[in-house]
Amino acid sequence: MTQRKFETIAIREGHRKTSEQEHSPAIFLTSSFTFDSAEQAAKRFAKEEPGNIYTRFTNPTVDAFQNRLAALEGAEACLATSSGMSAIFATLMALLKSGDHMVASRSMFGTTIVLLSDIISKFNIGVTFVDLIDVDAWEKSVQSNTKVFLLETPSNPLGEVVDIRALAAISKKNNIVLAVDNVIMTPALQQPLALGADLVIHSATKYIDGQGRCLAGAIAGSDELLEGIGSFIRTTGPTLSAFNAWILIKGLETLSLRMRMHCENASKLANWLVEQEFVEKVHYLGLESHPNHEVAKSQQSGFGGIVSFEVKGGKEGAFRLINNTKMLSITANLGDTKSTITHPATTTHGRLSDEERAQSGINDGLIRISAGLEDIGDITSDLKP
Ligand SMILES: *Cc1c(COP(=O)(O)O)cnc(C)c1O
Repeated sequence: MTQRKFETIAIREGHRKTSEQEHSPAIFLTSSFTFDSAEQAAKRFAKEEPGNIYTRFTNPTVDAFQNRLAALEGAEACLATSSGMSAIFATLMALLKSGDHMVASRSMFGTTIVLLSDIISKFNIGVTFVDLIDVDAWEKSVQSNTKVFLLETPSNPLGEVVDIRALAAISKKNNIVLAVDNVIMTPALQQPLALGADLVIHSATKYIDGQGRCLAGAIAGSDELLEGIGSFIRTTGPTLSAFNAWILIKGLETLSLRMRMHCENASKLANWLVEQEFVEKVHYLGLESHPNHEVAKSQQSGFGGIVSFEVKGGKEGAFRLINNTKMLSITANLGDTKSTITHPATTTHGRLSDEERAQSGINDGLIRISAGLEDIGDITSDLKP
């Protein structure tokens, strides 16, 4: 049989029909599972017989989601979690111990930075932050006890891109696990494992659900790496609910189609913004003027749905434009069918010091839009001063 393609896998993979022959995956809303006999229970607990025991360990609806996402990322396996943050936390707790060190990109989701600086660091684990695109800085930060590289590419909101293959070469040489947060791209646009990464982490809350309805996370990679992470999740409990898994299975079926449309709207929006009098600068990877346009093309199959731009008049100008919109949702969330607009300097990046913000290029006039799936003319009309 020929290898099935992404769109087919997204619709067909992972669902194991029950004896009811249901066409679409059922929701198994049950906390536990029963056994035919005491002997069978003993065998299940001893792992001598496969099968479900309790939903904190396994659940058929969650399994269907995990298997489908694993296939889409080209991974041996996948583990689902209750949120993106619990996926990142479980990964780090399983891979690191007291005395270890990790290197992380400075340009990551705000709560990820807080997790590393305020929580992970409490366990005598060293964290070095580096500029995402400075490959030499990653290499120079490696110590004998470095166990993990963690990054997001492209970064949000400016869309900086690091060459994943180059970082994979460094991590392999030093026995470091390279973990890529693939939220902004999804497997429809970028498959980090094929580029040499060891783990892919998701907040499925964003594009995988795609309609802003539930929180979820996932980690995909080799069986070997996932074993310890799975044990951490089963033991500490940030399991995905069967109901949310069912929503996400639906999300995966339209992921490729939606991502294509997010890219199309974002690209049209970026090109429209470039022409506008009130705009100073547009940051969109699809524009040839973006400094990382070429490296993005070498590892992504699309430029994504996030567009950032600087308006004239600093913070006042940015607030005026945001407050003037009637349709766009003023919220920091992204990856929704609805377009969202936010002012990073006072929301997602508000906790950074002025100096850190300047370093990451988040100035007061910067606005971020997550392009949704509405008509592009309606989106641009809403932004006209
Ligand atoms: C939202 C987000 C997370 C955190 O996910 P939650 O589902 O909100 O816990 C992590 N990384 C990125 C890039 C995100 O956008």
